[in-house]
Order: sequence, then structure tokens, then C-alpha cells
Amino acid sequence: MPVPIIQLDHVSKRYPNGFLALENVSLALHTGDIHALLGENGAGKSTLMNILYGVHEPTEGGVLMEGREVVHRRPADAIANGIGMVHQHFKLVMPFTVTENLALVAKGAKRSAFRRHTDARAFMERFGIDLDPAAVVGQLPLALQQRVEILKALVNETRVLLLDEPSTILTPAEIDNLYFTLRRICDQGTAVAVVTHNVDEVLANTDRYTVLKRGRTNGTGLIAETNSAQLVERIVGHAVSNAARIGAERTPGTECLALRDVSLRPSSGSPGLHQIDLTLRAGEVVGVAGVEGNGQTELFDLLAGQRQPDSGSLKHSTQDISVALVPQDRHHEGLSLDLSVAQNLLYPRIMAGEFRRGGLLDHGAVGEQAKVMIDVSDIRTHSHATPARSLSGGNQQKIVLARALDQAASVVVVYQPTRGLDVAAAEAVLTRLAQAADNGTCVVVISSNIEELIRVSDRILVVNGGRMTGEVKGAEMSVKAIGPLMTLGRQSHSSALETADA
Ligand code: ADP
Repeated sequence: MPVPIIQLDHVSKRYPNGFLALENVSLALHTGDIHALLGENGAGKSTLMNILYGVHEPTEGGVLMEGREVVHRRPADAIANGIGMVHQHFKLVMPFTVTENLALVAKGAKRSAFRRHTDARAFMERFGIDLDPAAVVGQLPLALQQRVEILKALVNETRVLLLDEPSTILTPAEIDNLYFTLRRICDQGTAVAVVTHNVDEVLANTDRYTVLKRGRTNGTGLIAETNSAQLVERIVGHAVSNAARIGAERTPGTECLALRDVSLRPSSGSPGLHQIDLTLRAGEVVGVAGVEGNGQTELFDLLAGQRQPDSGSLKHSTQDISVALVPQDRHHEGLSLDLSVAQNLLYPRIMAGEFRRGGLLDHGAVGEQAKVMIDVSDIRTHSHATPARSLSGGNQQKIVLARALDQAASVVVVYQPTRGLDVAAAEAVLTRLAQAADNGTCVVVISSNIEELIRVSDRILVVNGGRMTGEVKGAEMSVKAIGPLMTLGRQSHSSALETADA
């Protein structure tokens, strides 16, 4: 076996906040190979790519190129060593032509090689890419904009090409085209690494794989020597939680909100939504499972009324259906960190004019009401007057949730409600959600944690590539049934179910 072009040698990465994102990970990329990097959200894939690209330095271990240690302190160092990266979010100058975008990133003498459209065309032909060099990038469809990003990453004598989730925004036919291009790039003497969540895509198009799970390698090898079931198992893990269900068995009540054939157009970094049908009823917990970036934020925005469908309809069953939200980013969207716990808890009601006495805010009344909520939601704080900033993440999350539940909304939509929380805080948050449903609220939990969804939901919908790829209910809910629906290709749902039953 020849020396790998680039290697991670026993790399660990601890972030400044103390979080260990990679632990003793080794990885070798070979010229001429397409290497798939798989793993659930949070597994450490971006961290690994960012170390290869010089965005982060390893805390322990090293990076070797052709067997020799290199230090990439910044992306410019990695680029100088022949590493190119295609990010999920494009960094293109939209009003410029394809040629101009390529010339912009060319270093030194290379710059003169992209003066004319004919130069750019000759460069593209090496990789079998047929694009009009004079086209204005902003007017190209997404799949072709991505091709320009790939070309940009190749401009400076690239020997290693890294791609972060390139297929998320593509249709199945476009994915085939992408790998046709990547294969040509490999054949020109490059090593390619691709982050993706789609197991079918990996099996059909790549040569080697590495699975990351919670920052560690959970399997690596040749694609020819693995199969779909094995990869899925390595990605989502065996561990079906034995932990008990949270909340009572429920019988859903009347319909409160319905999506009919709803679609949102894809855009850069978003797969959009495609023909979503969904009926939400009072007194149920509906889980939405999926690997991050497969339409969950779009669904959240729609249910929140922050976006309108491009086609299809969203209907509230009556006029007084209201929706309360627990957003993903509790620091920016959820809390005012400098305000007190009490003001944060009661913000919507204060804004609506409650707690006034003689035209002024009655701080005493706010404090009394806040104390009740602090007690019910088990918020650990010195006092209701403490600034929200000084609470732990788990307790901040409990504030956001308590406030959403206090609005007596018909529907509460929560996004990754337990992310970053310790076990006890997570348990408290899930219990509050279950209680709300027991009391008649419709609770929608969007999460990439399958185990917690199984414990708290009455039914789970799975999204993949902006489509609903399945629904499992009650006793059918298991990691084995849901995992494949999250990770398999969009055209193989029936085979996914067969695998799950096997
Ligand atoms: P993936 O790409 O597989 O989704 P990431 O590499 O983005 O995973 O993240 C791995 C873990 O490291 C996650 O738990 C994430 O929250 C954490 N993480 C990522 N970046 C930072 C950072 N700058 N500081 C602290 N933790 C981080």
C-alpha cells in the first residue's frame, strides 16, 4: 500500500470550552480514492475536516503529508500544501463570472492562468466539467454553483479535496453527476474526502469509509467489504435505550394544524421541503427525527409562521390556534441574557401588558409569578432576580421552555430541546414536554437524538433530504426502524424498511 497523501495520526481535539470533540482519531486518505466520512450530527466530522484544512490545530496527535509531519495553523498553510475545501455554504461572488471567481482564488503565478474564459474552459475540461466560463455565477442553478466551488478548491495544485456534505442540496441525478466529477478529479491524482449522511450514496460511489461516533472512530475500511446494514449500525449504534417511556399513553384529540402537500424551494445550504403532509392533534407528542440539515429548520420556520410555503397549504383548524416556540439557538433567539430570570420567563406577558399597576410594571407581581414557574420547572437559580446569563445552559433551556409552555399555546414546537444539557437537565426538559402533552398541548419535538424521541413521542416522523421518509408509531419506534430512514437514499425507502425488519 502506498504512503497516504495525508493522514491524521492519533488526533484528539479539545475545544477551548473543554469539550473533547475528537479522541484518538487516525485517518488516511489515498490519492485516487474517494473516502466517505460518516457519522451522526455532532460526531466530529466538521472538526476533523477543519483540522485537515488548518482551521483548527489538533490538541494531541499530528497531521502527516506523504509520511512527514506538517503543521497547518491556518487554511492558507493547508492550501499551500495542496489542500482544497468545499464548504456547505458557498463562498462565491455571485455577480462575477465563473472565470472571475476562479481567478480570485488563484495564488501567485496561477492567477494569470485564469485571465481568459478559454483558460478557464481548458481547466474545467480536465475534470470533465462542462460549464460556461462566462456565466454569471449568481444565475447558475445550485448544482452548478457547487461545481464552481469545487473548481475553486482545485485551482491551486490541489492534491487533497475535502467536501462537507455536498449532496444535501442535490437531487439523485445531480448526486450521480457530482460523483462522476469527483471520480475524474481522483483520476487526476487527487485524494477526495466527502462528508455525507447518505449510506446508499456512499456504497454506490466511494472507495473507503470512516465512521465517527461521539468523537471516536467507529469503523473504517473498504466499501467493497461492507454493506448498508453494517454502516447504519456503525453510524447510529446498537444501543436501543432501555430507559423508560416518559409520560402517559395518550389518545390524540382534535386536529389543530395541518400541512398539505407543502414544499419550500431548496437554496444554498438547504434541501428545502418536498410535499410534506402532516396533521397535528391536541394532546400528542410528535417527534421529528433526522440528521441535521435535512429540512428540520425549514419545518420549524413553517410551523412558527416565520416562512410561508412556496406551494401547498398550512391551515390552523380554528382561529385561536396559537404556536409557541423553543428555538434552536437559545442564546440569540431565546433569551435576553442581561435581563433577570423573572423578566425572561414572563417577557411575552409583560409585553402584552400584564403585570401593570398604575401604568408601571409591578415587579412584585412579576417576581411572585416567576417563583411559581421556577418551582414547577425546577429552574436552579439563586433568585428570580438573577440575570439569565449566570445560569447554566440546562437552566437557561428550562427558562425558554417554561416560557413557551406558559403561553397556553395549542402547539409548542421545540428544536433540539436537550442539546448540550446534562442527563438530569435533559430529563427534566423531556418530562415537562410530556406533561404539556398529557394536559392537551400538541408538542412537536425536532431532534437528532433518536433515543430521546422514542422515549417521549407518540409517533415519529423522519425527514431526509427535505422529504418525509417515514412515520413510526408506538411500539414500532426503534433505532433500528428509524436509523435507516434517516440515512438511506431518498429512493430506497421500501428497502430501508426491509433492512430494518431483517
Ligand atoms: P459534526 O460535523 O459531526 O456534526 P462537529 O465536528 O461539528 O460534528 O462537532 C462535534 C462536537 O464538537 C459537537 O458536540 C459540537 O457541539 C462540538 N463543537 C464544535 N465546534 C465547537 C467549538 N468551537 N467549541 C466547542 N465545541 C464545539
